[in-house]
Amino acid sequence: MKEHKGVWVFAEQRGGKLGEVGLELLNIGRKMADKLGDALEVVLFGHEVKSLVEELGEYGADKVYLADDPLLEVYRSDAYAILMKDVIEEHKPSILIMGATSIGADLAPRVAAKVNTGLSAHCIGFDVDENGLLVGEVPGFGGAVIASVICPKHYPQMATARPGFFEKLERQVGRKAEVVEVRVNIKEEDLGIKIVGTFREEAKARPIEAADIVVAGGYGVGGSENWKLVDELADALGGSAGATRPPCDEGWADLESQMIGQSGKTVRPSLYIGMGISGAMHHLVGIKDSKVVVAINSDPKAPIFQAADYGIVGDLRQIVPCIIEEWKSLVTYP
Ligand SMILES: Cc1cc2nc3c(=O)[nH]c(=O)nc-3n(C[C@H](O)[C@H](O)[C@H](O)COP(=O)(O)OP(=O)(O)OC[C@H]3O[C@@H](n4cnc5c(N)ncnc54)[C@H](O)[C@@H]3O)c2cc1C
Repeated sequence: MKEHKGVWVFAEQRGGKLGEVGLELLNIGRKMADKLGDALEVVLFGHEVKSLVEELGEYGADKVYLADDPLLEVYRSDAYAILMKDVIEEHKPSILIMGATSIGADLAPRVAAKVNTGLSAHCIGFDVDENGLLVGEVPGFGGAVIASVICPKHYPQMATARPGFFEKLERQVGRKAEVVEVRVNIKEEDLGIKIVGTFREEAKARPIEAADIVVAGGYGVGGSENWKLVDELADALGGSAGATRPPCDEGWADLESQMIGQSGKTVRPSLYIGMGISGAMHHLVGIKDSKVVVAINSDPKAPIFQAADYGIVGDLRQIVPCIIEEWKSLVTYP
């Protein structure tokens, strides 16, 4: 009999509310579990979060490993990683997937190292092969190839998935999951991280992943001084401003909330305008579900034009102020 069994999904919660990514992972997990003839099991850590089990069952979970303790109320790297290692060693899952969120991207490699297994990060596709192995699809070499990554010798086979990339399953009201209570043997004094307070930063604009209009800037914007063009166009159109990786690395834009692409957010706006963006696959995977794509680039051969519905060839420093001015002259706000 196979020693490692079960497809596991880590369901993130913040403030007692399930993160969307956990529900998206249940869809992927459900398909793999059905193909393997295994159960789909969820790991849920938090405090006073038992009520979330119902939602997890209705979105496809067969079983929920629930660890409920005040120590787990707010995510802490060490507490969650130690506990996840304990649960894995006791129950021996075959597969464990997490969201590539700030929590998942922190937790997954810690857990993989603790249980001595591999990790495919930021996957954009999942399957199980004829040997029952998890196949994680990861864009590589600037997006020129999609690498199919397997981990044949170590368990659990671990992967993180891009948040917002996969659809949730339809909710089946009344569908139930079995609950397995996990004993928490961690003490505050064993932990190196102390929570001294938590606060919530209010977003200035709609989060880009929920915005209907996204204006994104790339390295071609040329500097923090010029970045106001991205913000001004986004403001004028009532949209949100996003970015490629280089402006985030340069500090012109915020990596956590604004980066779009394989390692960042997925956007699904009605209108996406990209300026000074070459169109690397790593960025394009995050905009592929945009309804209308407009690209502004001085290089007529820039790959982004292949992905665009409308292209404007020219210097964004001249073009964007004209668009803003024209738009403001056309639109009158009450
Ligand atoms: C593992 C991995 C993960 C990654 N994840 C991401 C990710 O999630 N998101 C992401 O975006 N990137 C990601 N990257 C980086 C990605 O590969 C590209 O390097 C990046 O997207 C390029 O950003 P860019 O288009 O802004 O810059 P560039 O490729 O440098 O393009 C700048 C463009 O601006 C144009 N330009 C220059 N001046 C002007 C001007 N005055 N007016 C108009 N156009 C002008 C140029 O013609 C050029 O096409 C990742 C890379 C790796 C290896």
